[in-house]
Amino acid sequence: MSLSICDWKHGKRWVYSITYDEALVELHRFSVPHHEAFGIPGHVEAVAGHIGKVRQIGQSSYNGFHHMGAEGLRDLLDRGWGVGNHSWSHEVIGPDDVERELGDAKKLLEDVIGAPVPLFCSPGSNVNMSDHVLEAARRYGYLGAMSITDALNRPGDELFWLNRTPLHEQYYAPFFSAYDPYRNIRFAQEEGGWIIDYCHCPLEKAVHPNKDCSEAQLRRRFEAVLTEGGDAVWCANPDEVINYHVTRRHTQVETLQADDSGHRYRLTMADLPPTVTCTELTLDMVAEAAWCGKPRVAIARPGREPETVIPQVVRPRTLRFTIEACDGLEIGIGQADATRRTGA
Ligand SMILES: [Zn+2]
Repeated sequence: MSLSICDWKHGKRWVYSITYDEALVELHRFSVPHHEAFGIPGHVEAVAGHIGKVRQIGQSSYNGFHHMGAEGLRDLLDRGWGVGNHSWSHEVIGPDDVERELGDAKKLLEDVIGAPVPLFCSPGSNVNMSDHVLEAARRYGYLGAMSITDALNRPGDELFWLNRTPLHEQYYAPFFSAYDPYRNIRFAQEEGGWIIDYCHCPLEKAVHPNKDCSEAQLRRRFEAVLTEGGDAVWCANPDEVINYHVTRRHTQVETLQADDSGHRYRLTMADLPPTVTCTELTLDMVAEAAWCGKPRVAIARPGREPETVIPQVVRPRTLRFTIEACDGLEIGIGQADATRRTGA
């Protein structure tokens, strides 16, 4: 008999997210329609100092493209997307630059979109994942930081170094590669991992083979995720995933009672960062078989009216439910509930 917190929300086996660096206006034409068609939310990494401007950075392949303004970003939010901070200037961030690049940029983006920005996304390369940057990311209340390392993210990891899978037509020399719509999926299924894809702005043809894929390749990726993932994949805005992940890591389950008459548990949360905006957790409870017919779980939050949730029966004796968690929340199931229900 036990209560455990699922690795991922809704008890899903693995997670799929996708991010678009630079938040370019053309996404609305070439990417958003595919997201809408498949019901997969996205995430843009906005450069705070470039909002609404024409991009002009060094030799960038995306010079001349337009960074979204407030209206475009808010439209994405309405579609269930999230916005990350891709720095203020997209330059190398020195120790003296962190206030502007991480602190001011986060504040500005949050004002512009009217929503939290819990993720920092390193611009340029992993050079901007240096110790002073990650230390500042924690200090300014981010919940995680995204790199460009091609790897899975695991439920046990701390996640201030989030890996991202480049969804690019071809990788840089000397390793090269060909586009693979199935990249990292099998491994995510096996390890219960979180894939975060990244590209910039897929068009009819990739703007640069080492930086992007085409619109058709993007669509093929979504098809691969959904056909391989079925009901086991959680396609989610990375903001929701990082909130879940951080909440889970700060929550402990304590058993108050476990006998024939009932099971009761208490959740305790220690040092939950104040910038967590969603504390929903999915819980698996192993109960007596007799309590799994027409099951009811009692939830009591300190200072609030008790409530009842109807869990899902995911396998014999295992009940699953998603609740808004808080420190001191009590969860119970037992004979008393069963007796009352049948009127015996
Ligand atoms: Zn960038």
